[in-house]
Amino acid sequence: MDFKFTAEHDALRAEVRAFLKEAVPSGPGPARPTSQEDWPSQVAFNQKLAARKWVAPAWPVEYGGLGWSHINQMIFSEELSYAGAPDAGRVFNVGMIGPTLIIHGSDAQKREHLPRITSSEVVWCQGYSEPGAGSDLAALQTRATRDGDDYVVNGQKIWTTGAHHADWCFLLVRTNPDAPKHKGISFLLVDMKTPGIQVRPIVNMAGYHEFNEVFFEDVRVPVANRVGEENNGWYVAMTLLDFERSNVASIAANQRTLELIASAIRSDRPGAASGYAAVPRHRLADLWVANEIGRILSYRTAWMQEAGRMVNYEASVIKLYATELAQRITNFGVNTLGPAGVLEPDSRHVRFNGVMEKGHLSNVSPTIYSGSSEVQRNIIATRGLGLPRD
Ligand SMILES: Cc1cc2nc3c(=O)[nH]c(=O)nc-3n(C[C@H](O)[C@H](O)[C@H](O)COP(=O)(O)OP(=O)(O)OC[C@H]3O[C@@H](n4cnc5c(N)ncnc54)[C@H](O)[C@@H]3O)c2cc1C
Repeated sequence: MDFKFTAEHDALRAEVRAFLKEAVPSGPGPARPTSQEDWPSQVAFNQKLAARKWVAPAWPVEYGGLGWSHINQMIFSEELSYAGAPDAGRVFNVGMIGPTLIIHGSDAQKREHLPRITSSEVVWCQGYSEPGAGSDLAALQTRATRDGDDYVVNGQKIWTTGAHHADWCFLLVRTNPDAPKHKGISFLLVDMKTPGIQVRPIVNMAGYHEFNEVFFEDVRVPVANRVGEENNGWYVAMTLLDFERSNVASIAANQRTLELIASAIRSDRPGAASGYAAVPRHRLADLWVANEIGRILSYRTAWMQEAGRMVNYEASVIKLYATELAQRITNFGVNTLGPAGVLEPDSRHVRFNGVMEKGHLSNVSPTIYSGSSEVQRNIIATRGLGLPRD
């Protein structure tokens, strides 16, 4: 393993950094909610990426990418994350459905959907979870019944991030209720404008409307919109989850947060050498070291992909480590700022536009989505350490 970047890598990093300086409108922050209000500016950012073919630069050229290596992609993601660049659905478009269609989609599906992702014309959402199916996803009950050239879908999804902005949804449905639970599932592509779809908002504990409930009542979906074989959607769904998990590392955003905390400690206790000031300094140093370990773990994953090795439990290790560390870091940040650390962004006494408080609240959810921390620990225990399942 060689952690040294080449001159080309350094040049790419400098180019991305220069672009982001212009393109990311407002300052730093660990929390970047997909709120309704700043959605248009987020979409505008994606269009700037599209103009440079930087929406999905690691995709093959034939699908609208630039064929970048995994290391280039990692440098790019690291810089976007550090700059607090908006997402506006890229995580679902580029991080989930796009690569899944490249593997499992029909030629017609690839032709229809991939160019509209790389040109940033559409936004996708993920219709997996249901009130009775989260970690145990295969328990899902949303039903699709064949009627001529259509499926007729009835049921409910929940926690559907960005459904209120989405043009399309990748949806898991049960097509055979009599088969064992993993074997009766199909994977559909659903136009969110189809009659019978209702989106209801859920506001999260940070006060943002990011996710939703989505109801399906006699929604007609062409059979041609099924990805893979009927009743074989579980395999398509798992391919997508592998992509999803390797996309959630937040080490670069953690770094930005640590720098904010360091600046607060410096400005609040100028030149202090007392034991009182040493406590936050020591904790900051511990967290800084912990984040450097996270950085090396994520570099290792990118290096494995570059070397053509399968990334398996390693994606769980980095997801678990980075998301739990993010919570510890913003918790420390809020405590370091004292009362000002819990103020809302519109208070005149707030520090760093309230990003520490919003980040602290928002950092709970990454330890739940894409497989909760407990689920990641199960994967590491069984696939990584070879421990028995029960
Ligand atoms: C911010 C956010 C955004 C999301 N966006 C989406 C989205 O866009 N689309 C979508 O489909 N879903 C989305 N989800 C849903 C997410 O995938 C589920 O919340 C997650 O899979 C957990 O499922 P659950 O909430 O039903 O909890 P449960 O599965 O009921 O889990 C409850 C608790 O039990 C623990 N647990 C469960 N099973 C085990 C086990 N085998 N071993 C040990 N502990 C276990 C869990 O870790 C958890 O602590 C989102 C969630 C959040 C928080």
